[in-house]
Formats: sequence, C-alpha cells, structure tokens
Amino acid sequence: MHNEDKNLLVILSSPSGVGKTTLTKKIQQKYSSFKISVSHTTRTPRSNEVEGVDYFFISAERFKEFIKESRFYEYAKIFENYYGTLKKNVDEMLKNNDLIFDIDWQGTKQLSKFKNLNLIKIYLITDNKEELKKRLVKRDQNSPEEIEKRFNAFEEDIKHWSDYDYVLINKNLDVCFKQIENIILLHKKKKIHLLS
Ligand code: 5GP
Repeated sequence: MHNEDKNLLVILSSPSGVGKTTLTKKIQQKYSSFKISVSHTTRTPRSNEVEGVDYFFISAERFKEFIKESRFYEYAKIFENYYGTLKKNVDEMLKNNDLIFDIDWQGTKQLSKFKNLNLIKIYLITDNKEELKKRLVKRDQNSPEEIEKRFNAFEEDIKHWSDYDYVLINKNLDVCFKQIENIILLHKKKKIHLLS
C-alpha cells in the first residue's frame, strides 16, 4: 500500500504558548475523521487536565519499562519529564481515523524515520516573543519557574523549524487555523485523487 492511501498523521509542534493545543482541538472539533493522539507522560497533571484525555499520566519507572519494551513510536525528555507516543494506540486509531500529534521536535525526528507513516509536519511560531510570555502567564498552568524555563527554551526549539514540511506564523488564531485546514485539505485531496 502507498503512503498516500493511508490516513494522515498531522504533527503540530511549537514552542510553549504559541497556541498549538487550541488549534489541535479546533481541528478535531471541525473534522470528525481526526482524533488527537494522547501521549503518555511522567509530568504531574495540571488542575484542569483529565487522565486519558490530555495525557496518560504514568510513573517514571513505568515509562522506562515501556522504553525497554520498545513500545513507543517516539519519546523525549522535555523540561525534566518524559513524554511519548505508544505504537499500539497510534496503530489502533489510524485504522479508522486521521491523527493529530502535539509533540516536540525530538519526537517529530523519530516519527519521520517510519517511512510507512503518512506524515504532515507543521511547525508553528510567533513573531512576537513578548506576546508569548504574556500567553504563558495568562494561561496560568505553570509555576513562575516553569514559565521561565518554557520561555527560555524558545530559541533552542525554533532551531528545528527546518525539519518540518510547513512553518506557520500564528499572528491570528483564525488565520492560522485556515492555513492548517488548507494544508490538510490539500493532502486529503491528493489522497482522494490517487484512490480514484
Ligand atoms: P506540556 O507539559 O506543556 O503539556 O508539554 C510540553 C511539551 O511536550 C510540548 O511541546 C508538547 O508538544 C510536548 N509533548 C507532548 N506529548 C509529547 C509526546 O508524546 N512526545 C513528544 N516528543 N513530545 C510531546
């Protein structure tokens, strides 16, 4: 089977606070074929997070067992915690759905090695770093130290933009959503065309 015949895996990566989570949820709400890939993490849940919806929260011991057993398509250590995508979950959901991944550049590199996956890699950036800091503070999900860490990771993170198929500047959420929709529809059209 050619990659084009398969369901899409859309990766959205960005520095913290660029709006990736909001955009991911908007795509899923508008396109019922899309499901969000739920990662496993060793991070402590935030007060608004739900087990199995935002993440599967597991211990570092369990996570390391999963690594040993090669159960991840990809995983990374980010801000002192592990995050990873289980092969089983992805393969199961891909049978009937397109998938969206909210993962970082390290995970994107690892997923790119699986040539059998029909990946679209999108990197989101902001043209306004001060705005980014305001958003990180406003969303009130991290301690001041964590906000500082996430803000400082910006420069390192954006070095990896060239590993992606598309780089979008999120100046306006609605415009950015439209751009993502256009990218998805373009790839969907290709698929329909190839199947007909
Ligand atoms: P947060 O702690 O804010 O939820 O996520 C921190 C970072 O981890 C974000 O950049 C997010 O994209 C990334 N992330 C979340 N899940 C995964 C995953 O399964 N794999 C990788 N590589 N990164 C992830």
